[in-house]
Amino acid sequence: IQSKLPSVGTTIFTTMSQLAAQTGAINLSQGFPDFDGPEALREAVARHVMAGHNQYAPMTGLPALREQVAAKVAALYGRVVSAEHEVTITPGATEALFCAIQALVRTGDEVIVFDPSYDSYAPAVELAGGRCIHLQLKRPDFSIDWQALAEAIGPRTRLIVLNTPHNPSGALIARADLDQLAGLIRGRDIYLLSDEVYEHLVFDGREHASVLRHEELYQRALVVSSFGKTYHVTGWKTGYVIAPPALSAELRKVHQYVSFCGVTPLQWALADFMAAYPQHIAELPDFYQAKRDLFCDLLAASRFTFTRSPGTYFQVADYSAIRPDLNDVQMAEWLAREHGVATIPVSVFYQEAPADLRLVRFCFAKREETLRQAAQRLCAI
Ligand code: PMP
Ligand code: GLN
Repeated sequence: IQSKLPSVGTTIFTTMSQLAAQTGAINLSQGFPDFDGPEALREAVARHVMAGHNQYAPMTGLPALREQVAAKVAALYGRVVSAEHEVTITPGATEALFCAIQALVRTGDEVIVFDPSYDSYAPAVELAGGRCIHLQLKRPDFSIDWQALAEAIGPRTRLIVLNTPHNPSGALIARADLDQLAGLIRGRDIYLLSDEVYEHLVFDGREHASVLRHEELYQRALVVSSFGKTYHVTGWKTGYVIAPPALSAELRKVHQYVSFCGVTPLQWALADFMAAYPQHIAELPDFYQAKRDLFCDLLAASRFTFTRSPGTYFQVADYSAIRPDLNDVQMAEWLAREHGVATIPVSVFYQEAPADLRLVRFCFAKREETLRQAAQRLCAI
């Protein structure tokens, strides 16, 4: 077969979760909680399944859930959006990102992504016939190199993909960054795809600089989020996109033929739960910050070096003091096989990783006992 994606293999998340299962390593690789979502939320699904909510949902999503999303963004980000014309429920943020890219990117268009970048962006761009321009975030804080961005923007630039809070680094974009970005794309035919799936996982009292807060950028943006992260149910694969009506209409043209709609009883349950437990979202930062702090406090006794993650449920750590001779893919394999902890090597999020990169990513969305056991193994190295 002449592959349409010759450079794509199996995603690192599958590879590392399989290796964890094979070796019995504690799985801090693929990002998902090892605890369940709220009981009331799970009960609501059962209730709706039994109540006969089992046929297709509307293509754009269940109205009650779109209303809840609209109410949330009004309360949180001060943006009043039309639940009918600006909110689309999708089967996962992954589908949302894919559809947004197919809807906007034409043959020969350039799409700017910041490496390390989440691994679903580039293949979607390639399938759309576009070309990814990979810019590297500046280390060690993974901030945007504005000079490089200004130089990369050209007549073929169609889309810029932002991700804040950032997977894998946990870095956050600031409000001032959004202003900078707005200045760079003002007057140009460039759109913005803002991956904000970790929007509620922001720590130390910091604020999530959502593109939804930014009037000028929002007018040309699609903002993506995921109920999976927010409600500890990654396996539900339910997400949403918020975009101005004209952009939502283009997105929906693709979404209706990729999946048509998301899973009906899950949407009912999420709508019920959001209405009944609005405080869940407000409690999330403390909930995950406590896990980050527990993990980092324990890891402080190891030879890994790190600065605490400002957001997401990931912590990156440098292992130069342990095995500088290994690249990070080798290191991840060694950690899983020899020390019983599965991680994600950060270089896989790069088109061309810096030669001196010695970082692995840990997922701390885990029960206290899991984190303690993993840290014990990591400190023994
Ligand atoms: N974007 C980022 C940055 C992610 O980490 C993930 C992780 N799962 C997704 C998108 C996809 O979300 P979903 O599981 O809802 O498809
Ligand atoms: N987003 C998750 C992570 O970064 C993985 C999702 C997936 O397995 N596709 O670990």
